[in-house]
Amino acid sequence: MSSEYFTDESLSEIYKKISSVVPEIEWKVHAPLIKKINKLKKDKNAVILAHNYQTPEIYHGVADISADSLALAIEAAKTNADIIVLCGVHFMAETAKLMNPEKKVLIPDMTAGCSLASSITGDDVRMLKEKYPGVPVVSYVNTSAEVKAETDVCCTSANAVKVVESLGVDKVIFLPDHYLANYVQKNTKVKIISWQGTCIVHEKFSAKEVEDIRKENPEIKIIAHPECPPDVISASDFAGSTSGMAKYVKEKQPKKVLLVTECTMSDNVQVENPNVQFIRPCNLCPYMKKITLNKIYDCLKNESNEIKISHNIATMARKSVQRMAEIGR
Ligand code: SF4
Repeated sequence: MSSEYFTDESLSEIYKKISSVVPEIEWKVHAPLIKKINKLKKDKNAVILAHNYQTPEIYHGVADISADSLALAIEAAKTNADIIVLCGVHFMAETAKLMNPEKKVLIPDMTAGCSLASSITGDDVRMLKEKYPGVPVVSYVNTSAEVKAETDVCCTSANAVKVVESLGVDKVIFLPDHYLANYVQKNTKVKIISWQGTCIVHEKFSAKEVEDIRKENPEIKIIAHPECPPDVISASDFAGSTSGMAKYVKEKQPKKVLLVTECTMSDNVQVENPNVQFIRPCNLCPYMKKITLNKIYDCLKNESNEIKISHNIATMARKSVQRMAEIGR
């Protein structure tokens, strides 16, 4: 394998950044693909948006914007690119398409789903609306376009409480994450009617695991995602969205930290905070990990896996996403 992957100016800059989390032997496999993808991106006027749970070679190697789902939705609406490649899961690519109906939106793997998004359908929401007439529906962005079409306003973990309170009502239907609903309920007086969806990654964490890590590392700061069970959040020092977590580490620079979330996130935040030690109990999201450099290259080259949403659903769903974007963080 050529050493050009360590001396080529653009590649060596990237490798310098991620060398603490990507071994040389892996870099030799990633580097040629990164080079090809970045060239193809320019040739086709494409932009790559990557979620915080994408692997470091994607997050730092080819992504133009790496962020949480709220920022990805907002950035998708601003881009001048002709093609958007969304490195994340299917609902994120659908959201990008809703925000940018004229653009071609591609996802490297159509089967990159989400346990939360698949926990609820449009029929389920219509049933809830019949059961609770007049009660507005707030849906987490981790839902299909069909569910968003039945929703008054979307939210992410970064702005869920703000969105619920923005409605000025005393009761809302909050979908589909039961634990996030629980977290919101603790932070607002508005009554929350929840659904029983869960994230298969965050529900695996237990308070005992977190407490044991604290016992072994008394100086540690523990930061949990609001999709975690309530006792895990109570056992943590802070709860926040993926961007909230990254911001906490950047600003507070704790000596040691545990991010109670998908474990690739620790690699990505580590790159930007070399003086912080990360403790990593590893829960990977199998859906996020379906996205690879090879699949990004193929989908951009062939312009395959395009996201299509029917006109009626898109028109209704877009309103709930736009309303969320207007509310912001
Ligand atoms: S981490 Fe959980 S919420 Fe995020 S995509 Fe994976 S299953 Fe869905």
